[in-house]
Amino acid sequence: MADAPYIVGVDIGGTKVACVLADAEGRILARRWQPTRASEGWQAVVQQLFEMTEQVLAGTLLSQVRGIGVSCGGPLDSQRGIVYSPPNLPGWDAVPVKQLFEERFGLPTRLENDANATALAEHRFGAGQGTRNMVFMTWGTGIGGGLILDGKLYRGTNDLAGEIGHTTVLLDGPACGCGKRGCLESLASGPSIARRARELANESPESLVWQRATPDEVTAQHIVEAAQDGDTFARFVLSEAATYMGIGIANVAQILNPERVVLGTIAVKAGELVLEPLRRALAVHAWQRVRGVLQVVPAKLGDRAQDLAAICLWLDD
Ligand SMILES: [Zn+2]
Repeated sequence: MADAPYIVGVDIGGTKVACVLADAEGRILARRWQPTRASEGWQAVVQQLFEMTEQVLAGTLLSQVRGIGVSCGGPLDSQRGIVYSPPNLPGWDAVPVKQLFEERFGLPTRLENDANATALAEHRFGAGQGTRNMVFMTWGTGIGGGLILDGKLYRGTNDLAGEIGHTTVLLDGPACGCGKRGCLESLASGPSIARRARELANESPESLVWQRATPDEVTAQHIVEAAQDGDTFARFVLSEAATYMGIGIANVAQILNPERVVLGTIAVKAGELVLEPLRRALAVHAWQRVRGVLQVVPAKLGDRAQDLAAICLWLDD
């Protein structure tokens, strides 16, 4: 089955689950998605996934399927294929996803955390194409990372390599969801950007941001849009977050000396509004010979990333 033409990709998210059937060139042949029945417990979600997998497989001989790739938020054990309580999937305590799929479909199954799987997808099909050493960073609700080193995914000892969002960039900084303080994620994620705007709301009454949202409801999206319309305060808040992102990337670059860093959602939406201050921080905090070979670019795959991520688990060998 190793050279069978088709691959099943399964994406398990907190709000949405999706299944695709694809070929080895990443062409999607069938696709199903549903809102995640997360509140009904893991058994209900696995049942959803089984049903969607059956639907995308309809009419396909199992002997023509190379395997099933499953992408899910961590923490997880990729070797044993077990998911351990991701923050967006309450009650998933040691769910043996690999074993469940293998028993149900008789197809070999691989499990990978979503940031790593998306790194593989951007490397093969997106903004990381042609690189040997690439760092992918999600930049949205959280800041996750995936490392491609010497052309291969680097997972670390227990699947925790690349957690750049939880490197410390500010001593005694804001509390982070992980329990530490001053993590990159606590200063530059979407919710952190919104929190910073809220903190400064009284000092910026004239900002366009507050014509679009109250301090209670403001999101990073409001701030990006106001910045795009030229709002000085919104640009300041974004640029501050981007500066921390630049420091985080400088630290990674000093350690790994990559040729490209590919950045997710906020870089895709805000473009130069964040990339410019980010590069300025990089110029201060990374050696010239390190940053001289480094490109920092937005991700390319957009909505296709989730479909391709799980597929890529069967394309790396
Ligand atoms: Zn943290």
